[in-house]
Amino acid sequence: MTYNRGAKSTQALQETSLTIRKGEFVSIVGPSGCGKSTLLKMVSGLLRPTSGTITVDQKVVQAPVTDLGIVFQSPVLLEWRTVLQNVLMQVELRGYPKSAYHDRAVELLTAVGLRDFKDQYPHELSGGMRQRASIVRALIHDPPLLLMDEPFGALDALTREQMRIDLENLWMSRPMTVVFVTHSLDEAVLLSDRVVVMSPRPGRVEQIINVDMERP
Ligand code: ADP
Ligand code: ADP
Repeated sequence: MTYNRGAKSTQALQETSLTIRKGEFVSIVGPSGCGKSTLLKMVSGLLRPTSGTITVDQKVVQAPVTDLGIVFQSPVLLEWRTVLQNVLMQVELRGYPKSAYHDRAVELLTAVGLRDFKDQYPHELSGGMRQRASIVRALIHDPPLLLMDEPFGALDALTREQMRIDLENLWMSRPMTVVFVTHSLDEAVLLSDRVVVMSPRPGRVEQIINVDMERP
C-alpha cells in the first residue's frame, strides 16, 4: 500500500500476505506505524490497496464491506441517543426491524455490564462503558467478521482487563472471525487463536511471524 500526499509518498504494507481462517480469533501486534490500521482499513474496504488484493469470504473487496462489525480506538456514539438506541441504530441502518433485535441488544448489554445503563446517554458513561457499548453495537447484527483497531487503547489497565474478559465471553457465546489489532502482546496471547506479529523494516518487506495459540 502506498499513501500519496502531494510529492510525498509513504509505503505502508509491502508484499504482505496473510490468510485468516473462518472462525479464527487473530490478534495483530506490532509497533506504531507498522501498518496495522492500514491492513484493517483495506480489509473493511475503507481503503483500496494500490497493488494486490484483499479477499473476504472468497470475494475481492472493492467497496466498503457492509456485513462486518468494526470497533475503533475511540468509540463514536451519537450523544443524543441512549445506549440502547445507539446499538439498535446499527440494525436500523441495515434495514432490519429494530423490534426483532431489542432482546438481543439487552442481552449483549447485560453481558458487558451495561444493563442498568441502557437508557442513559453516552456522556453519562465512562470511557470503558462507551467502548463496551460500541462493541455491542458492532456485534448486534451478528457480523461474520469483527475488526477491532486498538479498541482498548485509551483505557486504563483495570478497565482493559475487564474489557478483555467481556470480549472473551462474547466471543465464546457466539464464535465469529475476529481480527484484533493491539499494542499489548499480553492481551493478544490471552485472547487469540493466533498472534500475527508485524515488524517493520524500513524499505523492506514486513516480517510476519505467526504464533498459533492453544485455547485453554
Ligand atoms: P499502525 O496502525 O500500525 O500504527 P498505520 O497503518 O496507521 O500503522 O500506518 C502505517 C504507515 O502508513 C505509517 O508510516 C503511517 O505514517 C502511514 N500512513 C497511515 N495513514 C496514512 C495516511 N492517511 N496518509 C499518509 N500516510 C499514512
Ligand atoms: P494508529 O496507531 O491507531 O494507527 P495513528 O496515530 O498511527 O494511530 O493514526 C491515526 C490516524 O491518522 C489513522 O487514521 C491514520 O490513517 C492517520 N495517519 C497516520 N499517519 C499518517 C500520516 N503520516 N499522514 C496522514 N495520516 C496519517
